[in-house]
Parts: sequence; C-alpha cells; structure tokens
Amino acid sequence: MPELKNCRKCNRIFSYITGPPICPNCQKEEEEIFEKVSMYIREHQDVPLTVVSKELDVSYEKILKYVREGRLQIKEPDGSILTFCEKCGKEIPSGRFCKSCEAGLAKALESSKRELLGKVTAQESKPAGAGGGFRFIKDANKK
Ligand SMILES: [Zn+2]
Ligand SMILES: [Zn+2]
Repeated sequence: MPELKNCRKCNRIFSYITGPPICPNCQKEEEEIFEKVSMYIREHQDVPLTVVSKELDVSYEKILKYVREGRLQIKEPDGSILTFCEKCGKEIPSGRFCKSCEAGLAKALESSKRELLGKVTAQESKPAGAGGGFRFIKDANKK
C-alpha cells in the first residue's frame, strides 16, 4: 500500500511507493533535467562541467550528483572517467577518496584502533567523539 508523504521538493502530499520522496510532478521535472544534461554531455564530450552547468542553467552540484550516482559518466580529456571523493565530493583522478580525506580517514582509523585496543591516553582522547567514531567504523566495514 502506498503511504502519503510530503514531496521533499514542493512539499505537496502524494502517495509514496518507492524511490526518493519526491512527487510524480517533481520526479518528472528531475528526469527532464537529467535528460537535458545527459544529452548535452553526450553531444559536447569535452565541455567542462562548470560550463555545462551554466549553459543549461542546472546547478553544478546537481550534475556532480548524477555523476556520483553513476548516472552520468564524464570523460576527462585524457580519456579517463571523472571520479569523486566519496567523503567530500571533490574531483579525484582515481580511487575512492581524495588525498586529504584519505589522510583524515587513515588518522581516524588509527585513533579508533587505539581506542578499541584501550590504549588511548588521556591526552589523545577526544571529548564526546564517540558518535563520529562509530559512524566511521561502519563506513570502514562497507568496503
Ligand atoms: Zn513535488
Ligand atoms: Zn575528500
């Protein structure tokens, strides 16, 4: 049975079945925007995303979201496929995280390891950082 939900975009009540909590109208609109972007990119392979965003009046963030969701594939001039850091969304040449997030993750991993081992000294332990730590452990297990 469909349940009633408020559309996350226009706030109208609609019967929600599956997928993102967006009403059929907004969903159609979203699809049209996506179609527009994907067609433009197919025709203009070497146009930078910032230009695509301006040309089509679609926010850069939105286009990046399509790419991150794997709905759009952007080829770099050298033929490689554009990739984004899973944490901060920055463009990266390859892999899953950018250099700074990778460093941060390694550090967080180190400290959570130490915490698990119970070797944390009073000096190193962060106050009330437990929530973040748990979230990180979950993320790390997803690999
Ligand atoms: Zn809506
Ligand atoms: Zn990052």
